[in-house]
Amino acid sequence: MSVIAEPSPAAPAGLDANETNPWAAQAARFQTAARKLNLDEGVAKVLAHPARELTVHIPVTMDDGRIEVFTGYRVQHSEARGPGKGGIRYDSNVSLDEVRALASWMTWKCAVVNIPFGGAKGGIICDPHILSKNELERLTRRYTAELVPFIGPERDVPAPDVNTNEQIMAWIMDTYSMHHRKTVNAVVTGKPLTLGGSQGRRQATGRGCKIVCDRAIERLKMNKNQTRVIVQGFGNVGSNAAELLAEDGYTVVGVDEYDGGIHNPNGLDIKALLQHREKNRTIQGFPGSKPLKPRELLTAACDILVPAATENQITSQNAHKIQAKIVCEGANGPTTAKADDILQEKGVFVIPDILANAGGVTVSYFEWVQDRQGYFWKEAEVNARLQDIMDESFHAVMEYADKHQVNNRIAAYMLAIDRVASAIQLRGIYA
Ligand code: NAD
Repeated sequence: MSVIAEPSPAAPAGLDANETNPWAAQAARFQTAARKLNLDEGVAKVLAHPARELTVHIPVTMDDGRIEVFTGYRVQHSEARGPGKGGIRYDSNVSLDEVRALASWMTWKCAVVNIPFGGAKGGIICDPHILSKNELERLTRRYTAELVPFIGPERDVPAPDVNTNEQIMAWIMDTYSMHHRKTVNAVVTGKPLTLGGSQGRRQATGRGCKIVCDRAIERLKMNKNQTRVIVQGFGNVGSNAAELLAEDGYTVVGVDEYDGGIHNPNGLDIKALLQHREKNRTIQGFPGSKPLKPRELLTAACDILVPAATENQITSQNAHKIQAKIVCEGANGPTTAKADDILQEKGVFVIPDILANAGGVTVSYFEWVQDRQGYFWKEAEVNARLQDIMDESFHAVMEYADKHQVNNRIAAYMLAIDRVASAIQLRGIYA
């Protein structure tokens, strides 16, 4: 399969397709890590290809009676360690290469945190902001109906991602359940609590980011109370990470959104910012903050930068200007492979996406376990188990980095590939 394809439509202008194509970005890191591991050539070939790719064209009757057709995907990269696991994204920039990359990142992420899942991801090309709630429901249900033979608690378990939420998971769960004539709540995670969701799931990815920031500043001997943080993307991941970091004594000095950033060198009151955004539907105009152009904050003075929006934000265009000592990748694929090299030369401590944002899938795993046992845990228990897994995974990645003298991203890929390859070798190739 070619890894040189279309540029990412979401990427900043002026970058070449090889730098911004997420599937090519994934492949570059995979190949480097596989070489360092002396990975068996045959196993490398298996892992360089997604196991299964489904494209569906989804007819939807719009509110005005017109029929529209949307294109959606579900890619299952690997099931070597367990059922596929990964979110569903609704966005106009969704492409097959993006979904492929996100599916493979899920394989590596589940392996880094050592939970018994493979990797999968889905997406629909649409702008959910211009669809009515009824249109969104019809789109979701018809997409799910197309996926019914491919998903399930023991096959592939979707979850929320960009522009999808608990309500959309509830529709997926209901549609799947109607087809099976019984309630199957373990078919998706990130559901509302009343339908078998888990305590702590909504905050889990941000909480995981906060845990690995704690471990990173310990390693770098930095003082929490003197640590300035900038967050890009104030959605599920970014807002929860910002809130938890601020609560624990970090100073969040900037938040960047698609329509611009806001900055206050003395720290932003994140709880008040959440209320401001709720009321005004934007972070702009937050009292006491200075407005900045989109992406300007990425290169502003801070100690920790948390890109938590989308792919290709730290690139060969701006990596050399990054001032942060730590980059904690809340988003998937926010840094291009070219930018990785620049950050490494500058000595920036990157906590790679497949570790930094793995808190979400970890609590999704807890949700799936709770659904299957029909017994639900208290939030404190969920958070304590998450803390254990994130701490252990951080240390496991650091061990690979120290032992093989590679950067943190390649170390995380090596750890993950080692675990997935061992599962493939033990299972053998079915003929
Ligand atoms: P979300 O839709 O809740 O939030 C994304 C936020 O980023 C939105 O507020 C959006 O306005 C903002 N944004 C979009 N493009 C931007 C840009 N160019 N500049 C600045 N801001 C921009 O999505 P989310 O669930 O928080 O996911 C964010 C990232 O984290 C994605 O890469 C996703 O794949 C990854 N992720 C999410 C989870 C999860 O549990 N939700 C888990 C792991 C990884």
